[in-house]
Order: sequence, then C-alpha cells, then structure tokens
Amino acid sequence: MVVNEKVKLAITVASLVAATILLAAEYRRRRRRKPTSSPSSCYLHSDMKPQFGFKRVLADNSYSGFKHLKKKKLEDGGGEKPSNSHPYESEITVLLESPRLDEFEFLRGEYSLEMSGSYVWVETESELKKLAETLAKEKVFAVDTEQHSLRSFLGFTALIQISTQEEDFLVDTIALHDVMSILRPVFSNPDICKVFHGADNDVIWLQRDFHIYVVNMFDTAKACEVLAKPQRSLAYLLESVCGVSTNKLLQLRSYSSMKREDWRQRPLSEEMVRYARTDAHYLLYIADSMTAELKQLGIEDSSSTDDKFSFLLEASRRSNMICLQLYTKETEDFPGNAAASSLIYRHLNGHEDNSSISLDPKFQELVRELCAWRDLMARIHDESTRYVLSDQAVIALASNQPTTPEQIHDSIAQADLSSDSSPSAVICSHLDDVHQLTQHKLGKLDVILPLVLDKCLGTEGTCPISVFNYSLLINFNTKLTTNRSTPKRRNNLKRFTRKTSRDLFVKKFSCKAPVYHNCRIYANDGRLLCYCDRRKLEWYMSRGLAKLVEEDPLAIMLLFEPKGRPEDEGNDFYIQSKKNICVGCGEGDHYLRYRIIPSCYRVHFPEHLKSHRSHDIVLLCVDCHEVAHAAAERYKKEVAKEFGIPLFVRRVLDSVECESSAGGDSEDAGVSPLHLRTAAMALLRHGNRMPSSRREELLQTVKMYYGGRDITEEDLEKALLIGMSPHERRKLERKKGVTVSVKQENSNNGSVEHSEEAPPGGDMNGEIIVVGDDSGGDAAPELNDTQCNGNILHQQNSKLSLLGHGPHGKQVVEYLLKEYGEDGVRDFCQRWRKVFVDALHPRHLPGGWDVTHSGRRDFGEFSVYNPTKKVSTG
Ligand code: AMP
Ligand code: ZN
Ligand code: MN
Repeated sequence: MVVNEKVKLAITVASLVAATILLAAEYRRRRRRKPTSSPSSCYLHSDMKPQFGFKRVLADNSYSGFKHLKKKKLEDGGGEKPSNSHPYESEITVLLESPRLDEFEFLRGEYSLEMSGSYVWVETESELKKLAETLAKEKVFAVDTEQHSLRSFLGFTALIQISTQEEDFLVDTIALHDVMSILRPVFSNPDICKVFHGADNDVIWLQRDFHIYVVNMFDTAKACEVLAKPQRSLAYLLESVCGVSTNKLLQLRSYSSMKREDWRQRPLSEEMVRYARTDAHYLLYIADSMTAELKQLGIEDSSSTDDKFSFLLEASRRSNMICLQLYTKETEDFPGNAAASSLIYRHLNGHEDNSSISLDPKFQELVRELCAWRDLMARIHDESTRYVLSDQAVIALASNQPTTPEQIHDSIAQADLSSDSSPSAVICSHLDDVHQLTQHKLGKLDVILPLVLDKCLGTEGTCPISVFNYSLLINFNTKLTTNRSTPKRRNNLKRFTRKTSRDLFVKKFSCKAPVYHNCRIYANDGRLLCYCDRRKLEWYMSRGLAKLVEEDPLAIMLLFEPKGRPEDEGNDFYIQSKKNICVGCGEGDHYLRYRIIPSCYRVHFPEHLKSHRSHDIVLLCVDCHEVAHAAAERYKKEVAKEFGIPLFVRRVLDSVECESSAGGDSEDAGVSPLHLRTAAMALLRHGNRMPSSRREELLQTVKMYYGGRDITEEDLEKALLIGMSPHERRKLERKKGVTVSVKQENSNNGSVEHSEEAPPGGDMNGEIIVVGDDSGGDAAPELNDTQCNGNILHQQNSKLSLLGHGPHGKQVVEYLLKEYGEDGVRDFCQRWRKVFVDALHPRHLPGGWDVTHSGRRDFGEFSVYNPTKKVSTG
C-alpha cells in the first residue's frame, strides 16, 4: 500500500531525526560537563572505535571475573554445577572417552583443492542465520578466527573464517557481535566436527566474546604433534600437504606478517581476504590427508587390529582436550602490579653495571605508579596497556623523570621511535594527568587510582562511559580496600564510588530515548484526539485504519469515528504535547518512568481501569524518583493499617503458639515474603557456614513469621514457598528435583501475582487516547531497585521494594471492588495521585493532568485497547 510505504519512510526519517537530536543533545551534555576547552578532554569523544557499537560484552574491563555460559540442564540430575565450570564438560568428556571412528571423514565425493574466486561475506543477522542453517547440515567444517588486540583491553574477535567443502564464509564478527549466539548450536553440536589449526586461542576467544563453546574438534596442529612433523605451522602444512606456497599465494608480503594486520578494517583488502580464506579453506583437505597418515602410522606400528587407530584417536583426544579449556580474566593483587614487577626485574637484570638508576626507590615507585595508571587508563578507554604506554616508555619516564608535559611527551616519543602511534591518544589527551602523576601531585598509589577513575568517569569526568568500563567502579571499591588503605581512605573511596555509581545508575536506567514522540492523531473531522508515540501511529496505519496527514512532525487521521473526544469529557490531558523532562524538577538530562499508582495494586485492577497509564506514569529524575518512591512506601503502610491488610505476611498462629510469642500485635510482627524466603534459603544453604551473628539475624526474620517460636528445618523448607505463585513454586520444585508438597500455611498467601506490569511490547493495554504509554519500544526501564546496580539506591530501597510481592495488593483491590465497586478503585487512584503531589510538589506536570482524573473511557469499536481486539492483534 502506498500510504504504508509512505508512513514507513516517514517513520524512518523521524527515527533518524530523533537519533540526530539525541546525538546533538548528548554532545551538548558532554560539552556542558567540560566548560573550558581543556586539552585533556578525552580523544574518545571523537574517535569512534568499532567495539563501541557493541551493545553487550561478556568480558568487560572491570576487575570482576568472567561468567561462563550457564546451560539449562534438561535432564535434572539434582545437584547444581559449580558456577564457573565448562558448560559442555560432560559432552566433551564423552568424546574423550569414546571417540567415534566414523567421524574422521573430512571430505566426501569430488573435491577441488583450488580456492575459487568467490566467497560469502556474512554481515547481517539473516545472513548469519542462513550460515547457521547451512552448517547444521554439515558433518564437518573448518574454522579460523582473527582478533584485534592493540586498540582493545582484552582483545576482540574481528573475523571468523568458516569453510565447508563447498564454500568459504567470512563472518564479520564486529557487525554481528551482539548476535553471534546464532552460531552457538553448531559449534557445540557433538555430531559436527570442527577443524582448526592451533585452536588454543580461538577456543578461548570464542568463549570470551560470544559464549561459543566448541564440542568435537580436530586440530591439525595436534595431528602434527602426534605425527612428529618437523614443523607445526599452518604455512608448513599448506606447502607440504597442499603444495601451496604461502609466499607465492600472497605475492607481496610474507604470510606471517599478515597476522599482524588490523583486522578491524572494512572493507578488508583483497590481500587480507585471500589470507583469511587461506587459513580455513585448506583445513578440511589437510585434516583428511593427516587422518590417513595417522591411520597408516597405526597400521605400521602395531600388529593387532585394535591398535591401528591409536594415533588417530590420540590426535582426536588431544584436540578435544583443547575444547575443555576455559577463558578466565587475569587477576592481580593490585592494578599493573605484575607488569611493574616484571619490568623492574628485567630492568635490574639489564643494568647490573648501572644499578644506581634502577635501584633508586623513586625509579621503582614511578614504574609501579605508571603501570597502575596505564592499567586503569587502558580499562577505562578500552585500549591495550601497550597502546596506552609501552614498556620502554614506562622505563624512559621512570629513568628520565621529566618535569614538564612537553618533556614527558618527548620522552615517550623517543622511547617508541619505531612506532607511529606514540605517544598514544590516551597520553595526548590526558597529558596533564601523566604530568601530575610523575610530579607526585596525585599522592600515593592507592589514592591515585580512585582519583583517576573519578577524573575520567566521575560526574565531571572527561571520558565517555561505555559497556566496557561501566562496571569498573562498582567492584573497584572492593579491589582497593585490601591492604593498603586506612579507614579514612576507605570512607572517602566509598563516598566516591557511591556518587559515581549513582551516576552510572542514572545512565543505565534512565530512558534511553525521549519517551514522548508527540505524534498526533486527528479524528476524521480534523479535531485533535491525542499525542502518541510512533508505535501507536504505526499500528493504526498498518491496519488501514488511518491515513498520514503530516510527515514532520508525524500526524495521522483516523478513518473511523472514534468513540468520544477528549474535550467532551472535560479532559484535555490527552491533547497536550508532553515534554521529555522530570515532572518534579524539570531536569531534562535524564529521567525514568514512575508509576503513581504502585504496581502491586494496579496489576489487580479490572482491565478497563488499567487503561489510563499515560496519565499515571510520569517522568522523574533519580532524585525526585527517590522522594516519590519513599512517600509511596510510607503510604502503603497507612493503607495497610486502614484496611487491616498487612504488608507483611505472618503465619496464622494457633492459640498455643500465640501464648508463647511475645505480644506481636503490630504489623512489625510480620515479614515481607521475599525477605522471609531469602532468609530461609540462606539458612538452608549456608546456615552452618555463616558467621553466627548473621545466622542469628536471619533466624530472627524467619522467627518473626512463625510468631517468635523456635524453628525447625522443616519450617525453613515451608518458608521457601510463602508468597510464591504456583508457577514459581513449580520452578523451585523442578530445581530441587523434589516435589515440595507443603500445604499453604495461610490461605491468603495463595496465588500471588508475581509479575509487575505486563511486559512492554506485547502489551496493548492502555487507552486509545494515550500519550507515550510504556508499551513504547525505547526499552526504558523504570527505577526498579531489584535490578539496581549502584549500591546506594539498592541499600536504601531494597527492603521497601520487596513489599510489592506479597498478597497485600491483591487483597486491597479485592476489598475495594467488593465494598465500593469501581468507584472505590477510582477514589483509590486519586488518593495515590494526591500522595504523589504532596510528596513532590511537581512543577512540571503536563497540562490537563489532574488528581481527580476520571479514568472513564469506553473502548471504541476500533480501539487498540478494545479487549475483544486483543486476540486478533496477538
Ligand atoms: P592465526 O590463527 O594465525 O590466524 O592468528 C589469529 C590471530 O592471532 C591474529 O588475528 C592475530 O591477532 C594473532 N596473532 C597470531 N600470530 C601473531 C603474531 N605473530 N603477531 C601478532 N599477532 C598474532
Ligand atoms: Zn579519556
Ligand atoms: Mn588466521
């Protein structure tokens, strides 16, 4: 349909415009952070490195360990696997113990060794899916990977070459970084043999970047070992087995120098493509030829037929041993320590005659400081340490001890004469810091790092936050509170990380894109019905229910008669455009969604009363959010008292137990279901290993639920189920491998809706006349303390946030409906709006927003929100 095409185009254009505006805003925001055009403003603001396009990284640059893939176990064997074990250990062990001989057939039918002129460049998700489908049909394929390590802290896979007998594929793993899991199944499929040459690194890189684990491998380098070949390089095998001279193949340059190419570049040069293909293309042929040799050797070497496969099996066994290796992040007791020690040691050994310099304590101190600084700077900027500052430059600085920024610059350039990227961009844009560091103006080593971190990533920080350095601060605190710091220092550090984590928190949880797109919908008589987001507009357009009337800003006209007009109801809230700012204070740099009516009640509202989300979901900055949230939690307690429906759960006590319990008449004699469960879980799991004070604390929590009496292990088991939905209970049972058939202690604890609001995306529960409801696709989460990464907010709110998961909300709404019908619910909503207004005195609420907002609106025949429509829209 022409209109559809048009709206699609318009939407694309609008998205681009929105993105541009966002970028511009981000740029202005950054500019504002750094008012003076200081030379130390970070180069990363203009140097867009390809990895900054990755949305997720499995191994970031923080000091925390690497988390391996957790495979969901279908066959529930009971006991949990250790957290960081190899997810495919058992599959690989099976291969090690009983290899299948029929597998060693690497070529079938006719095969031409020639490398054809064509190959397949894989750079889109659908191309990758197609490749996965192709590979799933193969019995064997060859693999090689290229990685980039200079301009990255941990390195990343820049290219994967895969060859089947028919085709060579080059997978652009930079473009496809976030969706590489598509290839996981073929790599872990034990029925498909993957041929590598020297797979030790590849196996680990695939784990690090994509959680791809290789199961069933034949490594031609291992075959070389078993066959005791004079050389083990691929170049040797190419010449000796395939008759391919690598130097002739690449004509200009030596084959081995190609490894050092920058594999990030796009498009790849012809020469690089040829080299990359070569590394995988011949492997199937080589594997085929080597297995024949291995079999032959077996036959010659043994008299019995049993042994004739022993060499082949040995090569296979050694290959699969590689698959068992696990990627780990290197750890050290202080950043840069290992490098510093090794540098000092090497330098001392090289300077026996001239030990006066190297034994100088100032020299050693400087080496340590510079190594620590470069380690942290490398992590922050996602660069290799050698890119930030080379070893020889560290030595030069520590020996020459230059005093001016210019001298520092020259000293480094001198030390790295052969390198054209020295001094690095990191040094150049942070030269002041290096200067202060070398002049000891930053203080002692344990002060330097937090200071550097704050200068770079703190609120006034000079450098961009990325998925790589994001969680650096969170665990930096623990990293440094080891041995060197005093209590005062620790406190400073805590305060500092708290501040910074708030900052990160805002970045992570605030809305990533403007919430209100302010697209307009008109009725067929030209009257404005509402402002809405693009998705809603698209919904009407794609169903032929509206026509496009304006492209910029987007506006449509409905082709049907909507039921009612906003102003007919004396409510013009919906025909106001909405600003993307905090309604409390007007802050526009960041905002989160805030639900004025707490979810624990709202989820239990009748469907048609839920529909007024846009009115009761507002934008707030983190600070206003905290204020509003705290007030709401206080008001929940009042509601609990007023309705006599406790926020906490407490087991109904029989008379005997009542006597023994010390007068528990207040709500404090109860406990939140989640607290109860967590305490019981901890006690059951680690009860005898935890410090007694902690155990006592947890016991108190559980005792509170049981009215203060002593508790048994059985009580703990029962406590695990309190407040759980049947679904959650089943999940727990499955996990434990037993049926925990405990009767509900308290009938009110029955099926508790655990879910918050329906997930965005599939949710069309709102009102037709709704502005930017939260089903929008901008994936902007609201402040939810349970997912909070930063510790401040978490600590303050974690207790409160759990309250929503008990039966309280459901009981309150049921009571309201029973006693007062829907009016009761409406009044209840108005009370919450008043609580919100009283707590925050919001100055930026959109026009038409009203505490007494009626919430009445019937569903029109064509409304997106007409419940009968729901089925057909799926
Ligand atoms: P290969 O398996 O030989 O293709 O090497 C894979 C990756 O390892 C290359 O993309 C380089 O990043 C790295 N690499 C291997 N050998 C060298 C080397 N001699 N010098 C630098 N990097 C190398
Ligand atoms: Zn920087
Ligand atoms: Mn290679």
